[in-house]
Amino acid sequence: MKSNLLEQEVRYLKGVGPKKAMLFQKMGITHVGDLLAFFPHRHEDRANFKTIESVSPGEFVTLQGQVVKARIRPLRSMSLFEVIISDGTSSIAAVWFNQPFLKKIFKEGQHVVLSGVVEYYRGLQIKTPEYEFIEDDEDETIHTGRIVPIYPLKEGLRQKNIRSIMFALVAEVRGCLQEYMPDVIMEKYDFIDVDTALQNIHFPESLGLLEHAKRRIVYEEFLCFQLGIAKRFKDNQKATNVFKVANVAEGVRSLCASLPFELTGDQEKVIGEIVEDLNAESPMNRLLQGDVGSGKTLVACTAMRCVIAAGYQVAFLIPTEILVDQHCATLQQFLEPFNIRIGALTGSTGKKDRKSIIERMQQGELDIVIGTHALLEEDVTFKNLGLVVIDEQHKFGVKQRANLLNNEHRPHLLVMTATPIPRTLGLTVYGDLKISVIREMPKGRKPIRTYWVGRLKEKDMFDFLKKRIVQGEQIYFLFPLVEETEKLDLKAATKEYDRLRQTVFKGMSVGLIHGRLKRDEKEDIMRRFKHGEIKILVATTVIEVGIDNPNATCMVIEHAERFGLSQLHQLRGRVGRGAQESYCFLVGDPKTDDGRQRLTVMTKTTDGFVIAEEDLKLRGPGDFLGTRQSGVPLFFLANIMTDQKILEAARRDAFYLLEHFPDSDLRSKMLFNRENSLELSDINN
Ligand code: ADP
Ligand code: MG
Repeated sequence: MKSNLLEQEVRYLKGVGPKKAMLFQKMGITHVGDLLAFFPHRHEDRANFKTIESVSPGEFVTLQGQVVKARIRPLRSMSLFEVIISDGTSSIAAVWFNQPFLKKIFKEGQHVVLSGVVEYYRGLQIKTPEYEFIEDDEDETIHTGRIVPIYPLKEGLRQKNIRSIMFALVAEVRGCLQEYMPDVIMEKYDFIDVDTALQNIHFPESLGLLEHAKRRIVYEEFLCFQLGIAKRFKDNQKATNVFKVANVAEGVRSLCASLPFELTGDQEKVIGEIVEDLNAESPMNRLLQGDVGSGKTLVACTAMRCVIAAGYQVAFLIPTEILVDQHCATLQQFLEPFNIRIGALTGSTGKKDRKSIIERMQQGELDIVIGTHALLEEDVTFKNLGLVVIDEQHKFGVKQRANLLNNEHRPHLLVMTATPIPRTLGLTVYGDLKISVIREMPKGRKPIRTYWVGRLKEKDMFDFLKKRIVQGEQIYFLFPLVEETEKLDLKAATKEYDRLRQTVFKGMSVGLIHGRLKRDEKEDIMRRFKHGEIKILVATTVIEVGIDNPNATCMVIEHAERFGLSQLHQLRGRVGRGAQESYCFLVGDPKTDDGRQRLTVMTKTTDGFVIAEEDLKLRGPGDFLGTRQSGVPLFFLANIMTDQKILEAARRDAFYLLEHFPDSDLRSKMLFNRENSLELSDINN
């Protein structure tokens, strides 16, 4: 009975109907099991309301009372809607700005529950509280007089709707769920059973039981995820390394000897780690983290050189076409002394060329193939693929990564990212990879000086930039281009380009590059910028990753407040690549605290790891990780920032369970299984 119920479709439940079923579907909820695992994001204790006389400013409270007054108050350019409620001990105001329609909703005499933060403004008030009216029918025992769940709802669904549906459902399931968590785990953490946990996460009998339920579910969400990762990790280890590389030391030495500079200590350390992997029993599975400009490509080249010398091929996957040529040139530069044959494959490679490149790959006539997503197509195969390198890992999904590795013999894998990932997040997302880190920058790099420029200071900035150009240096001008407002953004960037060309930088060569240009137009502009023919490059974020021009010393980021922290950091990494002093100007007037905080952080540090931590704090893990395709968050209750200890425990347990109960298939039995959570593909930046 139990399993049947969980697999029933939500749209057949009482009180749901087609319209609500659609809304549920948008939240990734199609079956009863999904709905039961849709948890409240908070609860309100409506059995013991706080009295209005006892509240103080700064507190988050839930109050109840009678509406004694409801009115609109015109206020300069805004309108203010104010409700006074009284609970017999005292009264308090609730206010909303620019929502005059509320006048139709609130009526004097109604009984209402309000939740929000108390503040002091000429008296105690709550700004923009959540509200719910209490009616005097029998259903009300669900909505008040108890600890009540508040669900994270989308437009169109109401707390009362979902609460009533959930109440009936939870009652139906009561006593039917069998415990699936192994005894060792139940005892180790003293968990309550799954049935009790489910009842109490939705409609808690007491605050104590609510805490117990949360503790178990947070753990379970992590465990489920980590079981998936542990399984991948094990599968990787089961594979045999048939691409062992004899004579690595020689391969590394000869490459380094040909370089015009010395390796940094971190580069050497990481190369050592890779070399060890190349000759281990199972194939390499490594993530290389390092800030922009830290020299990851060279490290990858070393691995490539060793693998190719042993007679195998390399696939180098990169996210955008515009980088293909640049990477080709870089590889050629490093690998030139070794007669290595490099080919490129992208979406715009012509049919005939494509055919011939694939043929040469299959004949083993190419040693390295660099390519974009085009490398992932089914008919693209190698003769003897020994190493897959992926640059900017977060631009590709886990599945895509698997595509290339899915050979008879599993090749080595090296993925690289310039978005440093805080440790906890690394455990979560990249838990199946070993991690190497480059923190040290090549010698002689000067930190980029970063300034936040208000509109009023623009002229000073332009004067400064002109001087730089006269000295022979080059400049990036970056404009945001956001998908939703793409057309407008492009227009703004083009307009600004005209202004810069015709007034500010009159007589100097200014170029414009954006995603709508044809490939050869883009290439032409990039080439001319790299060769110094174009002094000032106006760009949308198409240049975000990887462009390398050491002579570009200044970057101006317009509307800087519209970019995320990690993205600003990535963009800034385009300068500071040479020996000269470099500058980054963030132009913008952020309207929010977050925006101001982001720009301030940028002016204070150039350390990518510090920035990533700040970003995670500002955006929260949900945003940082992005959400899955379905729009369902990766974890409902678990928070990778605040629940780190539990995450680490779950990770250890996952490996333990897989080892000792290899056939238990625990993951598929879990009620709080976030199906597909391993498909998570992108870390936003
Ligand atoms: P990343 O891919 O990590 O952003 P790159 O590999 O593009 O960085 O390296 C940035 C620049 O630094 C390149 O021009 C590269 O040739 C140079 N470089 C790499 N390693 C060193 C080093 N040890 N000393 C000096 N320059 C280096
Ligand atoms: Mg790079």
